[in-house]
Amino acid sequence: MNPSNVKQIAMQRILILFEQAKKVRRTDPKLAAQYVESARKIAMAARTRLPIEFRRETCKECNSLFVHGINCRVRIKQKREPHVVVTCLNCGNQTRMLLKKKMEHKELEQDNYSNEAPR
Ligand SMILES: [Zn+2]
Repeated sequence: MNPSNVKQIAMQRILILFEQAKKVRRTDPKLAAQYVESARKIAMAARTRLPIEFRRETCKECNSLFVHGINCRVRIKQKREPHVVVTCLNCGNQTRMLLKKKMEHKELEQDNYSNEAPR
């Protein structure tokens, strides 16, 4: 199989897992987190990127699938660049996302990396 097929199949599985996770996130958040974790592993194995929607709605520390008003807190900050800070109420991890019309992926990536720096 060529690598693009592998990525395609991986993406299909990721989307299925994400759908499943969304279905159970209110009733069984732990199961939802397991689905998210599996999807992440598939993405890593296939060296493919997770959909932006997926990255926005999950915690990369504990794999929680966010339910607004329940396990995450969203704050909009206007300092320097307007951005959103999403706090995972399960593990306390914060993710910053820039609010720009044109999403500059490089900048977003760097931002993510700075969050992953050792504490
Ligand atoms: Zn978390």
